[in-house]
Amino acid sequence: MDSLNRFAERKLAAIERRSLRRELGVVERVDARRVRRGGRELVSFASNDYLGLSHDPGVVAASVEAVRRFGVGAGASRLIEGNHPLYAALEQRLAALKGTDAAIVFGSGYLTNVGVLPLFAGAADLVVIDELCHSCLLAGAELSGAAVRSFAHNDVAAARALLERERADARHCLVVTDGVFSMEGELAPLPELGALAREFDAWLLADDAHGLGVVGSGRGSTFAHAAPADVPLQMGTLSKAVGAYGGYLCADAPVVELVANRARSFVYSTGLPPGTVAAATAALDVIATDTARTSRPLALARRFTETLGLPGAGSPIVAWPCPTPARALAASRALAEAGFFAPAIRPPTVPPGTACVRLAFSAVHTDDDAARLAEAVAELERAA
Ligand SMILES: *Cc1c(COP(=O)(O)O)cnc(C)c1O
Repeated sequence: MDSLNRFAERKLAAIERRSLRRELGVVERVDARRVRRGGRELVSFASNDYLGLSHDPGVVAASVEAVRRFGVGAGASRLIEGNHPLYAALEQRLAALKGTDAAIVFGSGYLTNVGVLPLFAGAADLVVIDELCHSCLLAGAELSGAAVRSFAHNDVAAARALLERERADARHCLVVTDGVFSMEGELAPLPELGALAREFDAWLLADDAHGLGVVGSGRGSTFAHAAPADVPLQMGTLSKAVGAYGGYLCADAPVVELVANRARSFVYSTGLPPGTVAAATAALDVIATDTARTSRPLALARRFTETLGLPGAGSPIVAWPCPTPARALAASRALAEAGFFAPAIRPPTVPPGTACVRLAFSAVHTDDDAARLAEAVAELERAA
């Protein structure tokens, strides 16, 4: 065996020893609610498709029509030939929903963060970032070449201490957080962070991947507090509650204009497929109008945390804590036995020494699905 394969095998063996090896198992989504996996049909609590929009008949029809009309691929980057007529409607809806002048759509949420952070922070600058931020925010921060300082999770005083100590030495400063934390499900204190950033002439970027469509009357985490938070850089994804694919940044017009000119992952990557853009636009129309749908995932999550005596859910995501990765895997397997798909979340997705089973509630779950899941989890807790 050559050295490359030996290197890979050695790394994999080390991962395996720590119960951290992941399996790329085949999962067939039967509809927005159920999956077929290992020959069995399970009710899924694993998906980020919080509103079931990936399988919504109206959204699917809009997508199919766009494919028929414009083809399956964009053909080029948006600045060349890939900016098909459907983009304008999507960006207009995003800006309206987020209350900004403008919006710009990228190929994915990951591409948005690795494009936007390095554009607004560079070698002379400072990035102040929550320690539990999503991996692609960290990747963007590292790519920027700025000094990166992380603060204790959701600790505004710790963020302030960093700014007091280091802001004056930096040219520009970004404060970066998830709006809803993707594994824990908690909201960030966006109003406080927004005010703090203003005070220090820093620019707040909030990642709303898990907020859009499900908190703040569907408008996302910026709007999930007593008053709208001051967030000049609102980014997120079209691949979770929106049910499609892509990423976006909502901001003032000059900011969006600069992104279109200079964000590398925007300029040098092909535009989204037309069918995907049409799907996202149709899904946003549902999100903007159907409050019964956008309020249901959080209501189900709250009922679940109340039943189990867990801290009250702030989003449709509930992290059921497990003491070790091995225990999280065992709990996930036991839930599959009971008919539910809920993944064990292990490091490096969560910090070393922690693990959980992540439960994501969706508008398409029935009351009975949620009640039976609560019973199964309660039973596992009694047995532990
Ligand atoms: C999923 C996720 C992303 C990445 O979005 P994609 O569109 O899937 O690339 C970014 N940030 C957070 C917080 C996420 O959960």
